[in-house]
Amino acid sequence: MSLERYSRQMLFYDIGQHGQTLIGKAKVAIIGVGALGTVIANNLARAGVGYIRLVDRDYVELSNLQRQTLFDEQDFNERLPKSAAAARHLKRVNSEIHVDPVVTDVNPSNVESLISDVDLVMDGTDNFETRFLINDACVKNSIPWIYGAALGSCGTTMNIIPGQTPCIRCFIRDIPSPGKVQTCSSAGVLNMITGIVGCYESVEALKFITGSPDLNTKMLYIDIWKNSFEAIKLERDTGCPVCSGNTYEFLDSQVRSYTTKLCGSNSVQIVPHKTGRINFEEIADRMKKLGKVEYNSFLLKFYAGSFELTLFPDGRAIIKNVDDENVAKSIYSEYLGI
Ligand SMILES: [Zn+2]
Repeated sequence: MSLERYSRQMLFYDIGQHGQTLIGKAKVAIIGVGALGTVIANNLARAGVGYIRLVDRDYVELSNLQRQTLFDEQDFNERLPKSAAAARHLKRVNSEIHVDPVVTDVNPSNVESLISDVDLVMDGTDNFETRFLINDACVKNSIPWIYGAALGSCGTTMNIIPGQTPCIRCFIRDIPSPGKVQTCSSAGVLNMITGIVGCYESVEALKFITGSPDLNTKMLYIDIWKNSFEAIKLERDTGCPVCSGNTYEFLDSQVRSYTTKLCGSNSVQIVPHKTGRINFEEIADRMKKLGKVEYNSFLLKFYAGSFELTLFPDGRAIIKNVDDENVAKSIYSEYLGI
């Protein structure tokens, strides 16, 4: 491996050649390759993190290009999954590291296998359900993770080191009720705040990997429009069900079939009871009589009436222009017979 590429980073007093070697040996999983995840993946790949797993369930949409910095119009036109598009881009940036794209929905049945072999997990998600699941899996397996979130002009981040710091359930006990919190579809988001939070998460990752004593121990809260920056010291909650009680409610609810409304896209995702490899050619042949079908090796798209169904090789589907989960389930069973 050529170290010339990292020379400016190695000149930094707290990294040097030793730190760079540690960075090269590090294995990191990024869960969610959207606004935060693309910034983090770009930073860590350029910094030389030796192994980066990119996990995302979604594909590139036009409205992503405003803030999801690894994607371009070609990725959108090719209808690439986000993790595959990001990996393609990063391999052109740094061919000396290993970038592993995984196109999947993170759920209780697969989260531990996605994180158990890495040193650090990065939060690039946009919802509490997945964060609580990551928190359960990371605390149970003693794997550090870095929480991050952004909305409007505000962002927050915190390092969660099991056994040392509070976990996320110490300070956010429950998932907010539907309609109680703003989402990216209601409040919007500026690309500058997702960039800033992604960069904060990234620098904490480098500090963790290199064993720096300067690892942040506070929760940061930033509003770039209102010019505020706060660092808040949080304590572990002795009543926390996860890090004090060792109960993992989100991980243990081994739900195998469910629907999820996707943030900001008037879409519903369906994960079927049984997953398995889907033969796109066979399905396309059947569905072309019912509407327009197109597919590549990553996904199949089917258009009929006002909705658009995107099917992934494991049987998962995203149905667009539908906001009722039951209608989505009906469409899924109507066209896919499950
Ligand atoms: Zn806790």
